[in-house]
Amino acid sequence: MPPDPAQSDASQPDSGQPNASQREAPDLVQLDAAAPAADPLPPLFGLDTAALSARMVQAGEPAWRGRQLAEALYRQQVAELDEITTLPKALRTRLDAEGWRVGRPAIAQVFQSVDGTERYLVQAEGAGSETVETVWMPEGDNGESGDGTDADQPQAPGSTDPVQRATICVSSQIGCAVNCQFCLTAKLGLQRNLTAGEIAGQVVAVFARHGVQVGRDRINLVFMGMGEPFLNYANFSAAVRLLVTEAGLSPQRMTVSTSGIVPGIELFAQEPVEFRPKLAISLNAPNDEVRSELMPINRKWPIEAVIEAVRRVQLRPRERITFEYVLLGGVTDRPVHAREVARLVRRTGLPAKVNLIAWNPGPGIAYSMPTSSDVEAFKATLAAAGIPAYLRRPRGRDIYAACGQLKRTIEG
Ligand code: SF4
Repeated sequence: MPPDPAQSDASQPDSGQPNASQREAPDLVQLDAAAPAADPLPPLFGLDTAALSARMVQAGEPAWRGRQLAEALYRQQVAELDEITTLPKALRTRLDAEGWRVGRPAIAQVFQSVDGTERYLVQAEGAGSETVETVWMPEGDNGESGDGTDADQPQAPGSTDPVQRATICVSSQIGCAVNCQFCLTAKLGLQRNLTAGEIAGQVVAVFARHGVQVGRDRINLVFMGMGEPFLNYANFSAAVRLLVTEAGLSPQRMTVSTSGIVPGIELFAQEPVEFRPKLAISLNAPNDEVRSELMPINRKWPIEAVIEAVRRVQLRPRERITFEYVLLGGVTDRPVHAREVARLVRRTGLPAKVNLIAWNPGPGIAYSMPTSSDVEAFKATLAAAGIPAYLRRPRGRDIYAACGQLKRTIEG
C-alpha cells in the first residue's frame, strides 16, 4: 500500500483516454491521508461547542462563551470575529490581536448557470490559491425522489417567509484518487483531503450567500462533489457531526455517495442513526466486468463485497439505498444492461431505488451521451421490473457543475 494514494494517481498522464495503467485498481485502503501540518492557532471554524469552550477557557474566558461562538459561527453564519456581537467589543478586539480568527472557507468565484445552478470555487482559509468546488441547485435535481426524504414538507406553521428549496453538492477532497473513467474530477488525481471544517464550511458559506435559515428552508446536502468521502472518512464524519449538532441540519436531509469503499461502508454502518446520512452507491454498471473497466476500484471491492457491506447498514423506516447509475451511450445504456441492473438490485434484497444520470460530457473523456429515448427506455425497463427509478435532472451543464464535471483549474 503506498503511503499516500495521491502520489500515484496525481501523476497519471492526462491523455484523455483510459489506458492500461489507469485501469489498474488503485491500491488504496487508507481511509485518511496525511492531514495538513498542525497550526499553532487553528481557525475557530471547524471546532464544535466543546472545543470552542475549551479554547475560551484557554483564553481566560468562561466556558459558556464557547456556546456563543458556536451559535455565531454555525447558526448566524458570521465570517469575521468582529461580527460576533454576542461577545463584548473589548473581547473581540483582544482575540483578534492575539491572532484568533473565524477562518471559514470563503467563496472565491461564482459561475452561474442559465438554469439557476451556481458553482463555487471555495477557498480554504490560508490555503493560497487552492480551491474546492461546491454546487447550489435550486429545487434540487430530483436526486432525493423516493428515498424517504421529506422533500415536500409543508411550511412551518405561522411562517410567512418564502421557503427556499435547494440541494447543495459538497466536496470531500480536492481531486480524487478513485479514477472513474467517466469523471472529470478523476483527472486531477488526489490533491489532498479536506478537513472537517473545510467540508462543513462549504455548506455554511453557501448558506450565508443565500440567507438560508435552517428550520425554515428545505435544504438537502449531497456529498457527491469532488472526492470520495469514504477515503476521508474521519473528516467526513466529523463534518456531518458539526452540521447536525452545531448547524442544526438533519442527517435525513444528507446523502453520501461512495464508489464502494468497503472499509468506509463498514465504518458508516456503525454510525449512530442521529449522525448517519442516507447512503448512495455509485454503481454505474450492470456487472463486475463492465464496472471494473469503468471504475477500477471494483477490482478491489467487487459489487457483491459492496452489497454485503451495505447490508450491515440499519435503515430507518421507509429509507432506501440509492444506486446511482451513469448512463454512457452504447456502454451502459442498452436494454440488456437495464434488465441486468434490475436483476442485480432485486437480488440484493435491499429496499432500494435507482437514480439514473445521463452522462455529462467533459473535455478529454471519450464517452457519448445516451439518447433521451434510450434513457427513457432504461427507466421504463427498471420500472416494469418493479425497481423504483428516477432520472436526475442535469443541472448547470453549461458551467461544468453537473455530475462528474467538477474540476477546478489547478493554479501554480
Ligand atoms: S466519480 Fe466520484 S469517486 Fe469516481 S473519480 Fe469522480 S469524484 Fe472520484
